[in-house]
Amino acid sequence: MPDDAFLPPVPDTFSPPVPDVFIPPVPDAVELVLEAATMEAVFAAQRHVRIDAMRGEMLAEAAGRGAGVTDLVERSIRLELASAMRVTEYAAGQMIVQAEALVHRYPAALESLAGGRMTPKHAEVLVEKVDRVEPALREEVAARAVELAEAEPVGSFQRALRSLIQTLEAPTLEERYQAAVQNRRVVVESGEDGMGVLLTYAPEVEVRAIFGRATAFAKAIAAQEGETRTLDQIRADVICDLLIDGTTDAVPTEARGIRASVVVTVPVLALLDDELAETADPPVVEGIGPIPLSRARELCGGDASWMRVLTHPETGMVLSVGREQYRPPAALRKLTKWRADRCMGPGCWMPASRCEIDHQIRWVDGGETSLENNAPFCKNHHLIKDNTDWVVTQIEGSGGAVEWRSPRGRRYVVQPERRVPVFTVSVEKNAEAAPF
Ligand SMILES: [Zn+2]
Repeated sequence: MPDDAFLPPVPDTFSPPVPDVFIPPVPDAVELVLEAATMEAVFAAQRHVRIDAMRGEMLAEAAGRGAGVTDLVERSIRLELASAMRVTEYAAGQMIVQAEALVHRYPAALESLAGGRMTPKHAEVLVEKVDRVEPALREEVAARAVELAEAEPVGSFQRALRSLIQTLEAPTLEERYQAAVQNRRVVVESGEDGMGVLLTYAPEVEVRAIFGRATAFAKAIAAQEGETRTLDQIRADVICDLLIDGTTDAVPTEARGIRASVVVTVPVLALLDDELAETADPPVVEGIGPIPLSRARELCGGDASWMRVLTHPETGMVLSVGREQYRPPAALRKLTKWRADRCMGPGCWMPASRCEIDHQIRWVDGGETSLENNAPFCKNHHLIKDNTDWVVTQIEGSGGAVEWRSPRGRRYVVQPERRVPVFTVSVEKNAEAAPF
C-alpha cells in the first residue's frame, strides 16, 4: 500500500487552514465571581504584609528616637492606620494583630491566602482561634487549620477547628474536671415578689439530662386538652413536683416512662484499655463536647437511658448506638440527625434538631425510610433541593456524605459530622449493623 494512502483527501474547494492557536474557554458567570474573590484574597494577603512592614518600620523609627514606651508607640501606629484607612482605631488594631500573626506566626496561612486558596474570612477565623490554643499545641493546630481552611466553607471550618482544638486539649480535661466537680452544689437565692431561684451546679451531662427529661414531661402535658400553661411554666411545675413529692401530677399515659436521654460517643476500645484510650479521640456528649473518659465509662456501664454510641478508635466509625435505638422511624430519625449534626446544605449551620428529615428518593416514588435515603435539611435548603435545578444525592457507600450539583454543574460535597457504617434497614424489624 503506498504511503500517501494515509494522507487526507485533497478538498475540491480551497478553505483557509484553521489557525493552531489556543482559544481559552469562555469563563462562566460563577468563574468570573470566583476570579474577583481570589483577587480579594491576594490583595488581603498583600495588605497584611504591608501593614506589618509599616508597623515594623514605625517601631524601628521610634526606637531610634528613643521614643520609649512601646504601648504609646503602638497607639500612635494604630491611629495612623485608622486615619489613613478611614476606619475605627479598634478596626485598625484588629488589622495589626491579624497582620502580625499571619506574617510572623502562621506563614503557611498567609501563603494560602496569597494564593487565593483560603478567603480573608477563613484567615481571620484561623488567627482568632489558633491564638487561643495552649502555646505547646499551637504549631500543630495551625498546620491542620490551614488544611481545613482550604477544604471547608467558613462555618464548617470554624466547627471543625473548634472540635480539633477540643480534642487536642482533651488530655488535661480529666484533671480539670476532677477539680471542678468538687465544687458541685445547690444554691437557693431569693427572687422578687415571692419567687426564688434554685441553682444546681453539677456535671453538665446530668444538668442537661434533668432539663431534657423535664421538657419531655412538659411537652406531653402541654399536648393535653384544656392545658393552658406555657412550656416554661409546666417545666418549672414538673421539677417542683418531682423533687418535692417524687412524682408529678396529671401525667398523661404518653409521658409515662420518660427517661432522660443523653447521647454519648465513645471510641469503643477506650472503654476497655487505658493505653488505647490515650491515643483515641476523647468521648463526646452531644451538645456539650468532650467529657473525661472516667465519666464516659461510668455512663456506658450504667443506666439504659443513655444512648451509647460506640465508635471504632481508628476509623471513628460507629459500632453501636444500642440495639433498641435502631428501630425506625424514631430511632432512625435520631441516628440520621446524629450523623449529620446539622443541615446537610453546603456551609449550613442549622442544628439537625431544627431540620426536616428529607427522603432523597421521595416516598411516593418508592424511596425507603433508611439511613441511605434520609438526611436532615433546614427549611431553606429543603426548598432549594425540591424546587430548583440543584441535584442533591447522598453519595453511595460514603456513610452519609451528600453531593450538591449546582444548576451550572458545579459539585459540592457536604460531609456529615460523624460516620455511620452501612446499615441494612428492614422496616418491620430492627436495623442491623453490617459487619466490617
Ligand atoms: Zn440548611
